[in-house]
Amino acid sequence: ALQAQNLSQTFGDTEVLHGVSLQVARGEVVAVMGPSGSGKSTLLHLLGGLGQPSGGEVYWEGVRVDQLSVDARAQRRVRALGLVFQHHYLLPDLNLLDNLRVPGMILGEDLTARAEQLLQQVGLGGRGGAYPEVLSGGERQRLAVARALVARPAALLADEPTGSLDRANARRVAELMIDLAREHASGVLLVTHDEALAALADRQIDLLDGRVVPPGSPATALPVP
Ligand code: ATP
Ligand code: MG
Repeated sequence: ALQAQNLSQTFGDTEVLHGVSLQVARGEVVAVMGPSGSGKSTLLHLLGGLGQPSGGEVYWEGVRVDQLSVDARAQRRVRALGLVFQHHYLLPDLNLLDNLRVPGMILGEDLTARAEQLLQQVGLGGRGGAYPEVLSGGERQRLAVARALVARPAALLADEPTGSLDRANARRVAELMIDLAREHASGVLLVTHDEALAALADRQIDLLDGRVVPPGSPATALPVP
């Protein structure tokens, strides 16, 4: 499981997260919603072990992230988390298959067979030798989802992964991500502004001004921009 315990984050003299606790189990899909500036990306950043919280702890599979050495953290991160962002962050000089093999390089394992399986599953089978530049926006995000799942992480952290896509493509990529995560027993923490995508989740967490608020609180129920 992926767990946040009483997380706080302060930038300068502004506290943007105030004691957030949550847990995402393997196979569980959780949507995070909240207005712009409510702290969603900050929360995912900390859950990803990409910054030091001002207070509280992050646990990956029961291990406290801030107690890991830098090297141990890098290895553990690949096992604990797959990251998907609004931008795909594919490596332009590697072909599609090699992009999917990068997590294996970090682990020192050959994940080629698994990469090929995921390439098929995201509808890019047979195109492993192509380069990211020839892909459409939706295909790039699908490849980013595949890469995030290659090392069978405990959870995916997805920060508006479909924010750059049109509605039909956004839905397709989100559904694919959730189906594959369930199939591969990874949890999902999905930040989205789209109520229709949040409805695909098992449950929803609403953030408002850096706090978890009860579902359906009026100020978080903003129209999709
Ligand atoms: P959006 O929906 O627009 O992506 P968000 O919920 O992801 O918003 P965050 O990016 O987490 O919001 O930002 C929360 C608050 O923290 C904002 O007021 C932002 O300006 C502030 N903030 C985020 N990162 C930093 C930083 N590195 N330094 C200073 N302030 C920051
Ligand atoms: Mg954000």
